[in-house]
This record gives sequence, C-alpha cells and structure tokens, in this order.
Amino acid sequence: MKRKIPKIVKEIKKTVFPPIEYTTQKSISYSQISMFHTCPHRWKLTYKDGHKLRDINIHLVFGTALHETLQLYLTTIYEENIVKADKLDLEEHFKKTLREEYQKSFIKNKKQHFSSSIELREFYEDGIEIIKFVKKKRGEYFSKRGWWIAGCEIPLQLPVNNAYNNVIFTGYLDVVLYHEPTNTIKIIDIKTSTRGWNKKTKADDLKNTQLITYKRYFSEQYNFPIDNIEIEFFIVKRKIYDSEWGDRRIQIHVPASGKVKINKSKNLIEEFVTNSFDKKGKYKDGDYPKRPSQYNCSFCPFNDRSDLCDKK
Ligand code: SF4
Repeated sequence: MKRKIPKIVKEIKKTVFPPIEYTTQKSISYSQISMFHTCPHRWKLTYKDGHKLRDINIHLVFGTALHETLQLYLTTIYEENIVKADKLDLEEHFKKTLREEYQKSFIKNKKQHFSSSIELREFYEDGIEIIKFVKKKRGEYFSKRGWWIAGCEIPLQLPVNNAYNNVIFTGYLDVVLYHEPTNTIKIIDIKTSTRGWNKKTKADDLKNTQLITYKRYFSEQYNFPIDNIEIEFFIVKRKIYDSEWGDRRIQIHVPASGKVKINKSKNLIEEFVTNSFDKKGKYKDGDYPKRPSQYNCSFCPFNDRSDLCDKK
C-alpha cells in the first residue's frame, strides 16, 4: 500500500523561492560567514570589492561528483526502493560526473589543467571505494523504517534577521530526511575528506556552526520545532589507515546544537552583518582586518596577489 506523504515533506518539495533582487538585496551564504570570520580582508576583496578569483582544484571537482552520486543513491532508496538503488550503476555515474565536473572547471580555469591523469585516476579510485562502502553498509547509516526523503539540495532563503530584511541568507541542504513516527527532521551535510576529521576539526566552531545555522533557519522557514531537528555531518574519507583495525570510509559527526550553540551562531552572523552591511542591505566601509597565518593564507586565492594583500 502506498504511504501518504507527510505534510512537511510535501511542503518542502513544493517550496519555490522568488529570485533574489540583486538591485536591492544581497545574498549571503554560510561560506561567506565563515570566510569573514577566518579573514575579513579576504571576504572584503572577494565580495565587496568583487575580486572573484576562482577556487579551482581537484578536491572540489571530486566533492561535487561524489555528492551527486550519493544523492542519486539516497533518493532512489527512499523514493523508489533499495533493490533499484543497488542496481544503479553508481560507479559509471560517478565516472561520468567526475569527467564533466573536471571539464567545467578546466574551462573556467581558462583551459589550463589543474590536475594530472595520475591524480585524477587516484581520486576516481578513491571515489569508487567510498561508493562500494556506502552500498555495503547502507543499512547501518540509512534506515527506511518510518523515514522519508524530503529532498537533496533543499534551498533555504530568508532574511538574516528582522533588522536586515534586504540581506538574504541562502543555503542548500545536501540531504533532508523526515522521520514520521517522531516528527523529526534530519539535515545531513556530506563532507569529503582525505582522512576524516580529527578531534581539532570536530571541535572547530566555524565548521559546526554551518549545520547549526541551517537548523535554525530551517526551523524558521518551515515553522518547524527546532528541538525536533537533528543535524549530522556525513564525512566520507578518501583514504583509510587500515580497515582491518576498524577504520571506516564513513565518519559521522553530530555537533552539539542546543540553545547556547544556537545563540553563538546567531552572534557570529550578527557580527558579520552589522560590520559589513547597512540596514538597506548595501555594503558598508566596515572593519576588514587581515588575518594572515600559514593556514589561512595557504587556502586563499590572494596569497600570491601582493597588489591586493600585503599580509600585514
Ligand atoms: S592572503 Fe592571508 S591575509 Fe591576505 S586575504 Fe588571504 S587569508 Fe587574508
């Protein structure tokens, strides 16, 4: 017998947002918030001054291709059935998507290669190992009993707060599941990582705040009780130390997201917005100090642009 689709799942599926009015509104994503708090000067150069230097690398290409493949698998499990999902040629889908994503980035990179065939092959093989593991252990991570999939890449689009109506928070949730018996939403963020997250990464407030922010805005957007929203990082590892010793391709990290953490995430956003925008949503001449460090600068596209950043 066909199950009746729950109200919240229907609502999420049918929600469509009007396009952002860029003449009067500004859109901010969590990656902007994170960039601002890592190095305000980098954010200013990128968004306020418009130096949109492209971040192109094999890790991003790999991440996009793997996201798409895993999302296809999960959607088929929940919207159709496990047998059909297991019959999908995910390996071929991943290979095709990896190739297409590489090609898109190659064009954006002015037709300059940014990886070698050996490296691409290695990433492809790592992806295949991850897919095999997810298929083999599916039951341990994804149960169908009472669960629905509301969708993948579910958009969020709402003003950051009442005082800044023209600054719109936008985000895309990788996977949203709904557990009908307990009226619980689960927001899953898929992360690709070389060897997984260590203690320090798991304790990183800026990383964890991404999902905490999504939880808060999801609750606001769908008027869904915040205490009934679970969040989870689903981290897939390209390399494992030794499977014989229990190292797995998947690591689950559930950040604390109670009242204290929610307030902390609000403050991070507030600090960014009040510094960088006026009430009409226009960029402000706020305070944009440089935060040079070996770590921050090595991942920054302005690292070798001394004309834009002297790192002092
Ligand atoms: S090079 Fe370093 S200091 Fe300069 S913008 Fe980038 S992260 Fe900030």
